[in-house]
Amino acid sequence: MADRTFYLTTPIYYVNARPHLGHSYATIAADAMCRYRRLRGDRVYFLTGTDEHGERIAQVAAAAGVTPQAYADEISGAFRETWQRLGITNDDFIRTTEPRHAKVVQAILQKLYDAGEIYFGEYGGWYCYGCERFYTEKEIVDGKCPDHQTALTFIKEKNYFFRMSKYQGWLIKHLEDNPGFIQPERYRNEVLGFLREPLQDLSISRPKARLTWGIPLPFDDQYVTYVWFDALINYFSALGYPDGALYKEFWPHVEHLIGKDILKPHGVYWPTMLHAAGIPLYRRLDVHGYWTIGGGKMSKSIGNVVEAFELTDKYGHDAFRYFLLREMNFGLDASFSEEAFVGRLNADLANDLGNLVSRATTLIVNSGGVSRVPADSELDDLERQVRDRFARVREGVDEAMAEFAFQKALARIWELIGLLNGYVDVSKPWELAKSAAARPRLERVLYVLGESLRFLGIVLAPFLPDAAGKIRRAVGQTGEPKLSDAAWGRLAPGTPVQKLSGLFPRVDKEGRSQEEQIGKMYAATRTSNRPPTERAGLADPATTTPELANSVSIDQFSKIDLRVAEIIAAEAVAKSKKLLKLTVSLGDSQRTVVAGIAVHYAPADLVGKKVVIVANLEPAKLMGIESQGMVLVGSAGDRWAVLTLDRDLPPGARVK
Ligand SMILES: [Zn+2]
Repeated sequence: MADRTFYLTTPIYYVNARPHLGHSYATIAADAMCRYRRLRGDRVYFLTGTDEHGERIAQVAAAAGVTPQAYADEISGAFRETWQRLGITNDDFIRTTEPRHAKVVQAILQKLYDAGEIYFGEYGGWYCYGCERFYTEKEIVDGKCPDHQTALTFIKEKNYFFRMSKYQGWLIKHLEDNPGFIQPERYRNEVLGFLREPLQDLSISRPKARLTWGIPLPFDDQYVTYVWFDALINYFSALGYPDGALYKEFWPHVEHLIGKDILKPHGVYWPTMLHAAGIPLYRRLDVHGYWTIGGGKMSKSIGNVVEAFELTDKYGHDAFRYFLLREMNFGLDASFSEEAFVGRLNADLANDLGNLVSRATTLIVNSGGVSRVPADSELDDLERQVRDRFARVREGVDEAMAEFAFQKALARIWELIGLLNGYVDVSKPWELAKSAAARPRLERVLYVLGESLRFLGIVLAPFLPDAAGKIRRAVGQTGEPKLSDAAWGRLAPGTPVQKLSGLFPRVDKEGRSQEEQIGKMYAATRTSNRPPTERAGLADPATTTPELANSVSIDQFSKIDLRVAEIIAAEAVAKSKKLLKLTVSLGDSQRTVVAGIAVHYAPADLVGKKVVIVANLEPAKLMGIESQGMVLVGSAGDRWAVLTLDRDLPPGARVK
């Protein structure tokens, strides 16, 4: 990330539905990225907004008995309010019904028309009103829209077309010459896949006889602009194209964050439009996957919805942000459940981070504060590890953020948190406090802890803005955090420290209100969007219970030595799609365990987890690696879960 200027856009959200989890994820991810870049000291501009034209909006407004403008005003307002309440730090919010936007759309249309890039022609094809686009024969599934599973309508009409087909070769070459243009790589490959078929010209108008809710073509008042040709232009109309100061400063640095459902418009239409109009291309497209609930995808036009507020009001904005950023491997799909959310809240936030902050601040305050900076020569092994970890965490976070891998960035930070919790356990400061002779050692421990909290208060700021602020204030840090201050040895002796407990209160898993919540959520999603296997009348493997095995005696069972093991390192096994090589700690020893879970877990997801292993399983070689034990993993259909502890135990503890 050598570039110190950064312009990031979210998709502009279509106002056919109120904000849901998918929108919240994209906006929160963009916000975390922009906060991170500001923390680095970069010049940042962050844009979001709403997409308000098109047939679908005209239809839902008519059904609601209001004008399209009134309908758009209401839903656009709901988006703005949501982002305000979630603490999103966007610099601007663009609406495609604003005159500043319409003016630029018309200027681009005229420019392309004058250059001969737009022509008048006739087209017949299968059209989905939900998607507002034509489908090719290849895309149609059982005669229906692949997204909506509704019948398509054959429409034949005269329209204006953008000569997109002539840019096919140019776009393929651009993608081949610029491997980082679309990331993660799978989406670049997907776009190259689209481009193996002949690229058609793009119909960019709709006759007013059929639709009036759009921006009129400047060269033919009988037509309005196709919604994508209107929407994409928001990315620079908001900057005051072509002469605005913001356009000049930020457009050369633009990246678009999008969901994979809008890959084609952003990966094919948009670069060809920009190229044809002589406007520099975006620097990179960053594509995330879907959130699923009960197996169905959550998209802008399909009605399964988790409203952010239900969860953030209950558990706090930071916990919600953390879950979304930590749970989704950027680019892949992730599954949402309140159970998993509460699991992470309790384990990662309440236990790992909350306890560390509470223990450390209490110890420091009760022991009279941080009195001195220990000399490097005084530090023991573990303390040197903590000190050296600062730079490694920063490097790891920076590398992860360069590719939008929020989950990896957080895993790097949590490795340090795990190390610090272990450090408190091993150094036992409460015992050091009992003897005067141990005072120098105690002072060292207090410094390491105070300094580590100061560090965490900075590096956590993009991800947990509220909690990070509280941590910084607890260790006497006021003013805006800077990433350059996240370096060892900056905490001044005598810094006022305050106790900070209950940063993330644990959520009782038996809580009644929570059960109600889960029940309500599943009822809503299960009826509205069944997984395809169930629609076809097949059993959902996640809901059928396998038959129980024959019984064993307690003596037979007791021969199996189950132990708590902490995963210290995890890596993919070369040439294997399924296997991960794990290094686990059993307290006083370490061993290698190979687990067939690579499809379900990224290595970074596992590091720091305490799992249960069969410790006395005969060693076996898998892909040339000797596995000394087996990790316990549950599965139901294609949902797999590694067994972890609901309360902390030291590695090596017996399980029976
Ligand atoms: Zn559709």
